[in-house]
Amino acid sequence: MRPVARHHHLKLARLNGRPEVFYSIQGEGKSLGWPSIFVRTSLCNLHCVWCDTDYTWNWKGTRFPHRNDARPGYQKFDKKDWIAECRVDEVAAMVTDFPCHNVILTGGEPMIQQPALTDLMAVLREKSDRYRFEVETNGTLLPSEAFDAAIDQYNVSPKLENSGNGRKLRERPAAYRFFASSPKANFKFVVADPADLEEVLGLIDRFGIAPEKVWLMPEGSTRQTLARRRKWLVDICKDYGFRYTDRLHVQIWGSKKGV
Ligand code: SF4
Repeated sequence: MRPVARHHHLKLARLNGRPEVFYSIQGEGKSLGWPSIFVRTSLCNLHCVWCDTDYTWNWKGTRFPHRNDARPGYQKFDKKDWIAECRVDEVAAMVTDFPCHNVILTGGEPMIQQPALTDLMAVLREKSDRYRFEVETNGTLLPSEAFDAAIDQYNVSPKLENSGNGRKLRERPAAYRFFASSPKANFKFVVADPADLEEVLGLIDRFGIAPEKVWLMPEGSTRQTLARRRKWLVDICKDYGFRYTDRLHVQIWGSKKGV
């Protein structure tokens, strides 16, 4: 077993001047409604045009398009202002401050930083064996053996064409196959238009994803958009035996971050 490196550094998202570690409620997918501590890592290997955590990757000097580009005053982010480098033991201390043991590693794409996150999970489990860990991932990266052993639940959200990422970048067969066969994984597809369904069905078929592992979620970061898309998406779920998930945090807080 590799030794735990407490002084390993994690690149966390920095929001309102602080590393983004907060206590809230899981707003999407399989664990919807579960009070949870969120540890938001910075950096992502994809660049979704509708990403609502674009402050983790849409850096000044890059050319990735984002749908907010048309919004007056929208600017790309200055890396030095939006990344907080924290030691593993510092992040563990932030987590143990909250009265909760369900921890959600989110991003950005947290699996870019597997070694430091594996250490974080080990340090927290030393403090209490009640800790339970979920990771929100875009499903493009394979877990290491140590990361896989530590994680309890993979919430895999493969990106579709509507994300604006090229297919080679977003669709990684070896990783998708791993998650399709992992008993710890569930899949959440973000659907913006009924036409996206064909693509979802193609992925499910190609990678052997069982329907009971599939959640469909409307794309949208406002209550109005979710309301518009909810009805036809529920009908699709009924037709195919998939589960529907809303975005509870958008319903409660709108597009406010870090709540
Ligand atoms: S994969 Fe997730 S964090 Fe990365 S750009 Fe897409 S939505 Fe944003």
